[in-house]
Amino acid sequence: MAASNAQQSRAEAAMLDYDAIIIGAGISGMYQLYRLRELGMLVRLFEAGTGVGGTWYWNRYPGARFDSESYSYQYSFSQELLDEWSWSEHFAAQPETLRYLNYVADKFELRRDIQFRSRVTSAHYQEDARAWDVTLHDGSRHRSRFLITAIGPLSAPTLPRVEGVDSFQGQSFHTATWPHEPVSFVGKRVAVIGTGATGVQTIAEVAKTVGYLTVFQRTPNWCKPLHNGKIDEATQKKIKAGYTEMFRRCQETYACFLHNPDPRGTFEVTAEEREAFLEQQYASPGFGMWQGNFRDMLTNREANAIVSEFVARKIRERVKDQKVADKLIPRDHGFGTRRVPMETKYYEAYNQPNVQLVDIKETPIERITPKGVKTSDTEYEFDIIIYATGFDAITGSFDRIDIRGLGGLRLKDKWRGGPQTFLGVQVEGYPNMFMLVGPHTALGNIPRSIEYNVDWVTGLIRYMRERNLTRADARPEAVMAWTAYVKETGKGLLSNEVNSWMTGINSNVEGKQIRTIARYSGSAPAYRKWCDGVAEKGYLELMLA
Ligand SMILES: Cc1cc2nc3c(=O)[nH]c(=O)nc-3n(C[C@H](O)[C@H](O)[C@H](O)COP(=O)(O)OP(=O)(O)OC[C@H]3O[C@@H](n4cnc5c(N)ncnc54)[C@H](O)[C@@H]3O)c2cc1C
Repeated sequence: MAASNAQQSRAEAAMLDYDAIIIGAGISGMYQLYRLRELGMLVRLFEAGTGVGGTWYWNRYPGARFDSESYSYQYSFSQELLDEWSWSEHFAAQPETLRYLNYVADKFELRRDIQFRSRVTSAHYQEDARAWDVTLHDGSRHRSRFLITAIGPLSAPTLPRVEGVDSFQGQSFHTATWPHEPVSFVGKRVAVIGTGATGVQTIAEVAKTVGYLTVFQRTPNWCKPLHNGKIDEATQKKIKAGYTEMFRRCQETYACFLHNPDPRGTFEVTAEEREAFLEQQYASPGFGMWQGNFRDMLTNREANAIVSEFVARKIRERVKDQKVADKLIPRDHGFGTRRVPMETKYYEAYNQPNVQLVDIKETPIERITPKGVKTSDTEYEFDIIIYATGFDAITGSFDRIDIRGLGGLRLKDKWRGGPQTFLGVQVEGYPNMFMLVGPHTALGNIPRSIEYNVDWVTGLIRYMRERNLTRADARPEAVMAWTAYVKETGKGLLSNEVNSWMTGINSNVEGKQIRTIARYSGSAPAYRKWCDGVAEKGYLELMLA
């Protein structure tokens, strides 16, 4: 009787709406859709926004641009696409990247399978049907065999945990939900709250036209000049001719960037050589100084202190008022142990008479008022408040969906003590759910990791379909082994001793005050080797049925 019930349920399952549901139309979801279509699958992609692009659709704030070199960030899967698209700058601004992603959506006719304005509120696994039951914010329900989350590591915006945010009577914006219409700062009194990577880009841009800018800083970050530039025709030809070699390099480097750690140790060179090397790094474009520094810079405290002192000196040189410079120099972490914001004339903004820095560790924000911001010693009045307060990173977008696996267990509850995954792709007890850029996966120059992630998931689905398999779940021992490995890769890294979104801390989010390992810190090649091994041996770490 049990068997016939099961058969009946399978029949029900055959009446699923789709073979696969993808959540999110950023770089991950778009590419996953393309690949699953190649397998001849019926796929639906649900996206909360009104267009494609994910990060580059939402983050329209002034100054938003790449920290990765544009060409190293783009998709590599289509030679035709690579030939057709030319980047105008080494580090493109958000509008260009959004144009690029729309171009990709048009070229591969992705939109016909994408449903916009569709926020997924819940996804429940049904064991009988071996299917996912997905509900949208409008109450509509959709069932599919596979569920693929492409919901982004930095896509759940957070506001500061202070009272009165809704009471402000001027205009206010979070950088990640910036309006589609232009915002003018001319003659306006503007506040920027937050000095992370986004805040730094915003401040430098707003300072160009603002009436008066007040920056509220809790934690200063070590910022490094971006050194962006236009790409002229000759350079364009050279870059394009070198794509094969460039993508090969990205495959080999630790974090898929063009930069790789220098093989020398900090103390294996003379003081003069060291100084010259750091000068050269500081003057080079992009993340080189972070990702391509001496090999021990992120593990050896003394080595790290040397680089930090070098950058502190630069800040003191660039900021005229030494009291302000002092406030801008981080004291609680070393260079590179948190995400390094890239900047263009950020420090110089503080030399303007109409830009003021408020250290909210000294004078905390007590509340947002109808007129502005009240700190412990002053009430500031503003026309515009910009919240550059970042994201509930990595697990935040998962926590905002009611995801339930076997026995109705909520993913949020399962991960209460920190995520546990297999390869950052699967969670035990959540069969047929695959995560792209989930916790515990290699990040770095993210599209390089995305393409690998998507191809791996596609390979697994192809394998299942060829064998008529309809259920994939991670074995508990595989999850334990992978999670232990992820923890192991973080050992000895100075970044794991620091509070940041990379160690699962967000003081604006309840329950995120304890450090967890949400991020894989090993090398991307090691990650791929492990994943390739799993596929080559026939996915023994998964329970396939
Ligand atoms: C300002 C900024 C700059 C960055 N710069 C770089 C850089 O230079 N280099 C780099 O490598 N990385 C950078 N990143 C990281 C960036 O997020 C990734 O590079 C990449 O865009 C991630 O793509 P994704 O498709 O995985 O996620 P996202 O681009 O975040 O897309 C996720 C999509 O899922 C949708 N979504 C989420 N939840 C739901 C739901 N419940 N229902 C429906 N839809 C949902 C969102 O609306 C979003 O469109 C940056 C991030 C930010 C915020």
